[in-house]
Amino acid sequence: MTKDQTKDQTKEPAVALRAATRSYGTVRALDGIDLTVRRGETVALLGRNGAGKSTAVSLLLGLDEPDGGRVELFGGTPEQAVASGRVGAMLQEGRATPRVTVREVVSFVARTYPSPMPVAEALALAGLTDFAERRVGRLSGGQAQRVRFAIALVGNPELIVLDEPTTALDVEARQEFWEAMRGYARRGNTVLFSTHYLEEADAYADRIVVLDAGRIVADGTGEDLKRAAGGNLVSLDLAGSPTEWLATLPGVVSVEIRGDRARLRTEDSDATVRALAARDAIRSLEVTRASLNDAFLTLSHRTRERLEPAR
Ligand code: ATP
Repeated sequence: MTKDQTKDQTKEPAVALRAATRSYGTVRALDGIDLTVRRGETVALLGRNGAGKSTAVSLLLGLDEPDGGRVELFGGTPEQAVASGRVGAMLQEGRATPRVTVREVVSFVARTYPSPMPVAEALALAGLTDFAERRVGRLSGGQAQRVRFAIALVGNPELIVLDEPTTALDVEARQEFWEAMRGYARRGNTVLFSTHYLEEADAYADRIVVLDAGRIVADGTGEDLKRAAGGNLVSLDLAGSPTEWLATLPGVVSVEIRGDRARLRTEDSDATVRALAARDAIRSLEVTRASLNDAFLTLSHRTRERLEPAR
């Protein structure tokens, strides 16, 4: 049976974490994660430092085991999926031997897989055709990153897992990298990547999963996240008037005062604006959509509040 037939005959998701936990000493790096990634999806794991992203990636690749719960790739164990070449990974560390050429290193890795893609194709997908004969030690950081991408791709995997793939790349190299990743995803493959960069998650993923303190605090599109974090921002000039009452207005979730200007995050901007109008307090009023950045900060704060109740 060919790999493609296997792919069609099974309906299991590419990735399934079920109540997965992993602790290191007293640190609960993953605290009961349920996550399903369907085949063909591109999903971003977004979170601050220490949120649990790398731990999740390690469990998915079978590099580490959960203390509780289950981890499945294509309905089997991560070890089975990795051994059969269905998963490619690009981890944070690792630089190939400096003296060999790009083509040599990718060819070497290709030979370790049961049904690799042609080396030239992997090089083209990773944007390395022009650097194929260059020694790995002579590459720029961005080019070296693409070699790691080619290595992850050349086994012709159905799922690719990328742990912070664009760290330390400049804007142009980042864009080139994501174009390459898109080319791979367009073939119907599944991509799971971790990142600190909200814009990347929003631009390149079908779905964003926000991790914080080992838990999933949001799961959806960028738009869903903005809604979940509490809709809009209303800002107005205070002109020296008192501010305590602003927090009691309908819909208002939080109040931030900067100089003479107040910034209200609200779940119901219509109600907030009506209440402001009733108090004749509409000076230089502005209503804007919360940014993804605002949403991320709000969602992460909520977890912290939950974990650290007021004393
Ligand atoms: P970053 O964005 O900084 O890479 P992350 O979201 O990938 O962070 P993890 O590396 O998964 O986070 O770490 C989650 C938590 O588990 C952190 O508090 C970290 O210090 C802890 N941790 C991870 N690996 C180990 C380990 N091998 N031993 C002890 N603690 C660990």
